[in-house]
Amino acid sequence: MIKYANGFRRWIFIAGAALLLCITMGDTCRAQSIQNAQLNILPDGIRLITLVRHNIPLVAIDVWIRAGNADFTAQTCGVTHYIEHLIFKGTPAMKPGDLDKEIEDLGSELNAGTLRDGVHFHTVVESRYWQKALAVIGNALSNPAFRQQDINTERPVILTELLRDHSDPRRIVSDRLTELLFPGNPYGMPYQGLAATISAMSQDQIVQFYHQYYTTHRMTVVLVGDFNPNEAKATAELVFQPISGDTSPTTNTITPPAGTPPNTDAIQLTTPEVGMSGEIGLGWKGPPALDQKADAALDVLSEILDLPRTGRLALAFSSQQTPPNATCRYISEKEGGIFTVLVTANSGFESARQKIIEVIGALANNQPPLPGEIFLAKQRVIGRFLYDTETVGGAARELGISDILAGYQRSLDRVSVVNELTEDDLVQAAQTYLNPAKAVCVELRASGG
Ligand SMILES: [Zn+2]
Repeated sequence: MIKYANGFRRWIFIAGAALLLCITMGDTCRAQSIQNAQLNILPDGIRLITLVRHNIPLVAIDVWIRAGNADFTAQTCGVTHYIEHLIFKGTPAMKPGDLDKEIEDLGSELNAGTLRDGVHFHTVVESRYWQKALAVIGNALSNPAFRQQDINTERPVILTELLRDHSDPRRIVSDRLTELLFPGNPYGMPYQGLAATISAMSQDQIVQFYHQYYTTHRMTVVLVGDFNPNEAKATAELVFQPISGDTSPTTNTITPPAGTPPNTDAIQLTTPEVGMSGEIGLGWKGPPALDQKADAALDVLSEILDLPRTGRLALAFSSQQTPPNATCRYISEKEGGIFTVLVTANSGFESARQKIIEVIGALANNQPPLPGEIFLAKQRVIGRFLYDTETVGGAARELGISDILAGYQRSLDRVSVVNELTEDDLVQAAQTYLNPAKAVCVELRASGG
């Protein structure tokens, strides 16, 4: 039986008050809604998503390319990250730094990110500059120079980034868990790349990958803000030059190899880094993002575990004199989400593992989610979504990533899908996806620990 502290009732009260506030502020909420987003598919295959918001004279531009892990080979792991860096080196007619300057001249900056299912290039500019900014991004993405010299310069930069990532124990454990959840499958590779593949990647491999996958058929262009939607189609058609190559609209589909199912036998890693904390991580593979109901259910379940103070993880470890840092995260992914529980543990790995297994197992069996827990967890998932999509940049990102994962409609439906989840839906998702026997486990022991 789980005991709830007074804090739990206080949380219910605060959440209820917040809900009431949101209802009374309904008009404001609607003004910032993303429900009016529209999709146009252009003749060259570009998916153009537009959302007009005239309240601030800004336009967010977020250009996504559906190229990622599913397209990697053993040699090209991390190539999308490499290309992300090289796009910033400009076209044959530009020198490194020119691209940044072109956007800076419009009073903004160009940013980019690489994820498992796609890469994106984004900026927010004053309304009067949106066409110029889109033209700059279109030119950069359509005509990258890929000079050998720039490839040589960026290689150590990326290798340093990888080293930095690997000084974070949680990152090490998360990466290893993902690899175990997708055994023998490029989807399990780190999308930032491996030191070995980044070190060995040739100009030919980079250029070939780009020509095959950075086609207009794999592009989603998102515009959010204060612009004339009638001009958006013509501008987007004009600025992206079609690249011959793969004309299928999505990334490759992965057929997981048949093999033994993962289990809870811990994989142990030892790190030589001094001062690094020990860490235990358990992971489960969730549904493809397209299964919106199950995907949302796992998001809510992760919050039930992760709630501060009253979450199931916090309660499970609360009797310890110094409770460890215990977190639960769910990341939606196209081929199958990644559900992880990480607990800092310098000793007592076995008891921490048993505790996590117990807490997860209880959700589907003897201690299904309680109405109060479901309410709070939904509020957190929805609250985060509304907060993230309030700005033009945040809304553009959400529409873009949804389109990459499962179609842009996913973000329009997200709040209602979460709201409609019942206790039965959550129990069923826990039974289907969070089976303790299907967990993978990684223990990172601090050196000398
Ligand atoms: Zn990077």
